Amino acid sequence: QFPLGRRLPCDIYWHGVSFHDSNIFSGQVNKFPGMMETVRKITLSRAMRTMQDLFPVEYNFYPRSWILPEELSVFVDEVRTMKDSNPSSKPTFIVKPDGGCQGDGIYLIKDPSDIRLTGSIQSRPAVVQEYICKPLLVDKLKFDIRLYVLLKSLEPLEIYIAKDGLSRFCTEPYQEPTLKNLHQVFMHLTNYSLNIHSGNFIHSDSVNTGSKRTFSSILCRLSSRGVDVKKLWSDIISLVIKTIIALTPELKVYYQSDIPAGKPGPTCFQILGFDILLMKSLKPMLLEVNANPSMRIEHEQELSPGVFENVPSPVDEEVKVAVIRDTLRLVDPQKKKRKDTHLSFHTYLLIFPTQLQSLHAGVAGMKDKQHKHHSLKLSLKLKFYLKLGSCQSLKQVPEASEELPDAPKSLEAALPSLCLKQVFPKYSKQFSYLRLLDRVAALFIRFLGVKGTTKLGPTGFRTFIRNCKLSNSNFSMAAVDILYIDITRRWNSMGIDKESGMCLQAFVEAFFCLARKKYKSLPLHEQVSALLQLCENRLAALRGRRLVWGCG
Ligand code: ADP
Repeated sequence: QFPLGRRLPCDIYWHGVSFHDSNIFSGQVNKFPGMMETVRKITLSRAMRTMQDLFPVEYNFYPRSWILPEELSVFVDEVRTMKDSNPSSKPTFIVKPDGGCQGDGIYLIKDPSDIRLTGSIQSRPAVVQEYICKPLLVDKLKFDIRLYVLLKSLEPLEIYIAKDGLSRFCTEPYQEPTLKNLHQVFMHLTNYSLNIHSGNFIHSDSVNTGSKRTFSSILCRLSSRGVDVKKLWSDIISLVIKTIIALTPELKVYYQSDIPAGKPGPTCFQILGFDILLMKSLKPMLLEVNANPSMRIEHEQELSPGVFENVPSPVDEEVKVAVIRDTLRLVDPQKKKRKDTHLSFHTYLLIFPTQLQSLHAGVAGMKDKQHKHHSLKLSLKLKFYLKLGSCQSLKQVPEASEELPDAPKSLEAALPSLCLKQVFPKYSKQFSYLRLLDRVAALFIRFLGVKGTTKLGPTGFRTFIRNCKLSNSNFSMAAVDILYIDITRRWNSMGIDKESGMCLQAFVEAFFCLARKKYKSLPLHEQVSALLQLCENRLAALRGRRLVWGCG
C-alpha cells in the first residue's frame, strides 16, 4: 500500500475504485479507464439499446428501458400503446436513478404518471425499466445472482467467468406487484444492503441456507427439481459475453485516450460484478453491471442496539477469495517468464489494497490490540498461503516474523483448480458476428486525430467521409456538416460531459444513418455491416496508394 503516493514501479497495481493514476508506464492495473462511466445505468441502457436495434433477438435478455427525463414522452406513448393493444396487461415499471447503487432511490410504478417529477429529476436522471413480474422463486422468495466476471484483456478480448457466485434473497415472500405491495422493498428488491435491515434476514454459516447463498447451492436445488442447469449456465455465459461485446467499443475509446497506442503504459484487467435475475421460465435477465463489486468477506452484526461487530461471512469468503486468488493467478506476470510453478507472493502482497486487507481483517481474529497491525500483515500472508492450498508453510512461519519463507515450488500444483473459466475467446466463433460496433469504434478512433481525446471534431468527421468516399451528389459535404452538427448537438445536450465534439454513441448514430441511406431495404445489422466493409476496403485502398506514393 502507498497511502502517501507510490514510489516504486509494480507488477500489478490494485486500485480501490477506478483507473486514476496517469503515472503508470508498465505492469498491469486492475481497472480499465472509463469502466465506471461505461456501466452506469444510463450508459449501459444506451449501449444495450444500440445492440437491441442491431440484434433484437440476441439482446432480449435486457429489460426494455427508457432514459429519463429525455425519453419521458416516448415512455408515456409506448405504455399507452401497450395498454391499448392489450387492455388486460397490467405492466409494472421500476425507476432507478442513474449512478445509484444498493437500491438507492429505486421505486416501482404502475403508470408513467407515478414518476416522481418533483425534486430534481432534471439534475438526477434515471432509467425506467420494465419490471420482471414473474421471477423464479426459491422458498417463495425472489433472489438475484451476483456473478464475478474477469475482463482480462480488451484487445484481444479475453473474458473469464467465476464458476460460483452469490444468490441474494429478499426477506418477504414474493407476490406479483399490485398497487398495495408496490412499496414493499423487502419483497421486490434483492439488495443485500436493504434486506439486511429486515427482521427476517438470516445470516447463515452454511452456503445453502439463509438470505445469502452460493449460486451453486441454488443450481443443486434446481437440478434436483429437474432443471437443465447446463443449459442455464450456457444462457448465462452468452448473456455475459454479449454484454461485454456491447461495452467494448466505448471502453476502447477510453483506453486509447488514457493509454495511447505506441506509448509506454500498463495493460488493464478488471473484476466485474454481473447482477442477473432468473425469470420463472429460467431465462436469465441482466439487471446491471458493477465496476466495483464489493469484495468484503465479513458482514456487520448488531450485537445490541447500536453496537455492531464485523463477523466473517462464509458464503462471501468461499466465492470472493477464490475470485481474487484466481485473478492473480491469471494475471501473474511471472507466469510467462518462468518455467517452474513458483509464485511470487511478495510482489502481490506489496501492492495489495485496503480492500483486500479488510477482506482478511475479519479472519485475523486478533484479541491483543498491540499486535493487531503486525498480525494483520502476517495474517494476510498466512491466509493467502492457506487459501492457495499451501498449508504446510503455516508451520514454518515464526510468529513474530514479517518474513515468510518462499512459497513451495509445487504450489501451483497444490492449488485448487481455477474457479475462473475462460469463455472468450473460447466461444468467440459463436459471437464474433455481434462485434460490429467494435469495427465502428475502430473507425472512430482512427479519425479522432489528437491523442487523449474521446470526441471527434468536425474536421475528423469530414475526413472520415472523404477518405471513405461517402459523399456524392445526393449527399453533399454541406449535408455532412449538417448531419454532424445535428447529432452532436443532441448528444451533447443529453450528456454531463462538457468536452465538445462528437462522442462515440453520436458517431454510431451517424454511421447507422449513413448505412440506412445507402442500403435501404436490408435489416439494420446488414446495412451497418455492408457500410463497414465498404469503409474498410476504401481505407485499405487509400493506405495502399499512400504506401506506393511513399515508395515512389
Ligand atoms: P442497484 O444498483 O441500486 O442495486 P439494480 O438495477 O441492481 O440497482 O436494482 C436493484 C434491485 O431491484 C435488483 O437487485 C432487483 O432485485 C430489482 N430489480 C432491478 N431491476 C429489475 C427489473 N427490471 N425487474 C425486476 N426486478 C428488478
